[in-house]
Amino acid sequence: EALYRIEGWGQPYFSINAAGHVTVSPKGDRGGSLDLYELVNALKLRNLGLPLLIRFSDILENRIEILNACFAKAIARYNYPGDYCGVFPVKCNQQRHLIEDLVRFGKPHQFGLEAGSKPELMIALALLDTPGAPLICNGYKDREYIETAMLAQKIGQMPIIVLEQIEEVDLVIEVSEQLGIKPILGVRAKLSTRGMGRWGTSSGDRAKFGLTIPEIINAADKLRDADLLDSFQLLHFHVGSQISAINVIKDAIQEASQIYVELALLGANMKYLDVGGGLGVDYDGSQTNFYASKNYNMQNYANDIVAELKDTCAERNIPVPTLISESGRAVASHQSVLIFDVLSTSEVPFEAPEAPREGESQVISYLWETYQLISEENYQEAYHDAAQFKEEAISRFNLGILPLRERAKAERLYWACCHKILSITRQQEYVPDDLEDLEEIMASIYYANLSVFQSAPDCWAIDQLFPIMPIHRLDEEPTHRGILADLTCDSDGKIDRFIDLRDVKSVLELHAFKTGEPYYLGMFLNGAYQEIMGNLHNLFGDTNAVHIQLTPKGYQIEHVVKGDTMSEVVSYVQYDSEDLVEKIRQRCELALEDKQITLSESQKLLQTYEQSLSRYTYLLKS
Ligand code: PLP
Repeated sequence: EALYRIEGWGQPYFSINAAGHVTVSPKGDRGGSLDLYELVNALKLRNLGLPLLIRFSDILENRIEILNACFAKAIARYNYPGDYCGVFPVKCNQQRHLIEDLVRFGKPHQFGLEAGSKPELMIALALLDTPGAPLICNGYKDREYIETAMLAQKIGQMPIIVLEQIEEVDLVIEVSEQLGIKPILGVRAKLSTRGMGRWGTSSGDRAKFGLTIPEIINAADKLRDADLLDSFQLLHFHVGSQISAINVIKDAIQEASQIYVELALLGANMKYLDVGGGLGVDYDGSQTNFYASKNYNMQNYANDIVAELKDTCAERNIPVPTLISESGRAVASHQSVLIFDVLSTSEVPFEAPEAPREGESQVISYLWETYQLISEENYQEAYHDAAQFKEEAISRFNLGILPLRERAKAERLYWACCHKILSITRQQEYVPDDLEDLEEIMASIYYANLSVFQSAPDCWAIDQLFPIMPIHRLDEEPTHRGILADLTCDSDGKIDRFIDLRDVKSVLELHAFKTGEPYYLGMFLNGAYQEIMGNLHNLFGDTNAVHIQLTPKGYQIEHVVKGDTMSEVVSYVQYDSEDLVEKIRQRCELALEDKQITLSESQKLLQTYEQSLSRYTYLLKS
């Protein structure tokens, strides 16, 4: 357990059971659990091949419950005379089943949706059917966007149009006059408080979105002139995703609450404060301000927001706002787990080294001697000696004075030295800096049936860390340390950064791969942003996905969303499958004429080709 830190990042949903398998408790502490390994086997029997994305609807429900409970507790604790009402940012995961679930689970809390673009607005408008739930309209807007949002008020929606660009103010006034509709408006403020880390540039004067304070004043004046100051009801800010340090949240909320009361004093009809997203996920379980973690919990987050607003509003005698948050990552990450299998492995070669023979180059004797003498006292020096002698052997080979067989022997001796040194460094508490790369150099490569570009694009693009671990054999000591190589023919298609305590490690502890036996790994907490950002590099398509819900008798498969077939992915790049088959058929005919292929071979080729087009883009194994 300690090895993969599951206690840190997995609580209360993931743990390890007595059989050495990962257990999923989708309802958190409220009981009911599933053996993930057995679940995967059962799903495979239903023709759901790996890689497979499993979504646990109960986890999603639990996250919404917990978020609302935290705000309810904070509101009670600070006697906050107002409400909390969350919205889910659709961009975080637009999959229909997930959004439908979110709306359903959010109903008791009037949980709304946030749209960041026109297509997301289309989804949100059609799916949100919770009376009184806010529909936050963010992102770039044109006339059509604004018209649609305003008219949606007439079908019982509560769209709040958030002005993010100064040009939108005039457009909103114009459309409102034309339609004769008084909208609910908000502004997104560019706070001077800066988020940290990867998404830190989401705030500050040069942020892409939002209005500066002079622009907000300008907007308020324009709205007053257009008799729309009454519509100006919301202040929004977003300091970036995955805020790791609580002090950033404290600073942002302090600045935003001052702006809020000032706007109310200016005459705006302030009712809502939308604190955006940013609530972090503890990917490495370290509970620190490391970028893959966070040094606060959801309750601290809610407390800080509620307490600050209560105080600021009380000091200035302004009614407190309804609080809105747009948490995406914190709501959607935990619910999905990607399961993939290992296809094969490649190890650093180890053969028992041979003593030098008469007539062989001196450099072989030096390497042999180095190997023989490696000890706890000299392993660091020996490592450098071995590397130097290996280089020397290669130089001699390039000059034509070392035969190929001797070069092979020199390389074998070098790897033998590395193995021996590594076994010593693994016993040491402190590994010298110059030997830190050794683990990486000696790592086994585990070839995984997945595409990093499709299933974990953030790993590749922004060095995001997700917890990855085997989902079975956890009662066995992992004897190997490896990196994961994916199916794409791209050297970036690998995972060689793994969670460690407040740090990153370059190898993952894994079990020996046994040919013919399945070895399943899980990538956890990847329910936010990954699916939609995934791309078709090498034409590996969407993976299979299933929605699992706990029942009193076990579980039920709510939905199966089949992954892309080859036919589908080739059509995305404008190929027609029938055309492709026809081309192959014609070539078979020509080859038959020339007697290059037999009739049965050509039948077999056509059959396999056609069948493949209707198959999954990933490898069919185990
Ligand atoms: N709201 C806005 C405006 C955003 O840009 C984002 C994402 O960056 C979010 C909400 C969701 O943020 P998170 O997933 O960190 O909660």
